[in-house]
Amino acid sequence: MSEIFVVVEHRQGVIRDITFEMLCQARKLSNSGRTTAVFLGSEAGPLAAQLSSRADRVLLLDDPRFAHFDGRVAGAALFQLLQEHRPWLTLIGQTSWGMDLAPGLAVKTGYPLATDCVDIQRDNERPLALRQMYGGKVFCRVSFPEAPGYLCTVRPGAFPAEQEETLQAEVVSVQVPAGLPEPGKQFLEFIESEAGEVDIAQAEFLVSIGRGVGEEENLAQVQELARALGAALSCSRPVVDKKWLPKYHQVGTSGKSVKPKVYLALGISGAFQHLAGIAGAGTVIAVNKDPRAPIFRAAQYGVAEDIFQIIPALMEKLKNK
Ligand SMILES: Cc1cc2nc3c(=O)[nH]c(=O)nc-3n(C[C@H](O)[C@H](O)[C@H](O)COP(=O)(O)OP(=O)(O)OC[C@H]3O[C@@H](n4cnc5c(N)ncnc54)[C@H](O)[C@@H]3O)c2cc1C
Repeated sequence: MSEIFVVVEHRQGVIRDITFEMLCQARKLSNSGRTTAVFLGSEAGPLAAQLSSRADRVLLLDDPRFAHFDGRVAGAALFQLLQEHRPWLTLIGQTSWGMDLAPGLAVKTGYPLATDCVDIQRDNERPLALRQMYGGKVFCRVSFPEAPGYLCTVRPGAFPAEQEETLQAEVVSVQVPAGLPEPGKQFLEFIESEAGEVDIAQAEFLVSIGRGVGEEENLAQVQELARALGAALSCSRPVVDKKWLPKYHQVGTSGKSVKPKVYLALGISGAFQHLAGIAGAGTVIAVNKDPRAPIFRAAQYGVAEDIFQIIPALMEKLKNK
């Protein structure tokens, strides 16, 4: 049996993208086995039903103790569920939820765990995970010892979220295990992090600017180019450090992982901390006046030229379209 469990992540009544990304990969891996979305929530029936078209079944554990995530409570409930159902693989987001939940669950179950996976394939009867080490400088393949079940946490943005919504899963209410611990944390209030006018993690086309932009005043022409191309604006860390753009524009290990169809990098050298954030991008186009800049190794198309030659030329082309 090769059932795959996906632990559903939700916040403020919204299912988070990481859930859809994991479900999409789970279906690819399932090898005609079953994909099961595991939903822990409070009065969450209607929300859980939103997953009906994306999984073979939805297991709903509805209890007030799941109203706000608590790794200790969720871990105890999932432990019981894994003991009972014995899925082949359980996917959990590499998020603040998942980082709280997965290690304890691995200890409890004795299942091997690979964290922060950017790819997961099937190697006969075991998963084979790809993860980054040393801040993204090294990719390593992780194989697992034989075990009754396996656990992986998945990096947000590593997999596409779109899949055909052809399934019609039943939402099955599961008895919440007896003897769950009381939450170890108290929820006080939800504070939305600084919101951008655009979420670069969701953008299909990104124009991204690096230190090569030179001065803050030069940003205006990049913004104009992004507008003309219908793209969102992102950047490397030095641009944020200089306070030329707010943090929510930053791509990379200490910024966001992005997965646009097209990523146009202007004056970005391609440090590994930046490249780690664009591992999920489709086509990467780089403009850098240094032909040996590492960004060209990550790009499908490259222009070794001054961005201030290229931007006006592109604008001209767009005007004449
Ligand atoms: C713990 C840690 C976390 C980090 N996290 C991140 C992160 O999340 N994201 C991130 O981006 N960085 C991150 N960094 C920083 C990272 O190491 C690099 O310093 C940074 O990515 C470099 O940004 P850059 O490419 O814009 O600048 P530079 O490396 O200075 O490159 C500028 C490039 O622009 C080119 N250039 C200059 N002028 C022009 C021009 N007129 N036309 C064309 N090309 C031009 C140059 O040839 C050069 O290649 C992190 C570092 C650490 C230590």
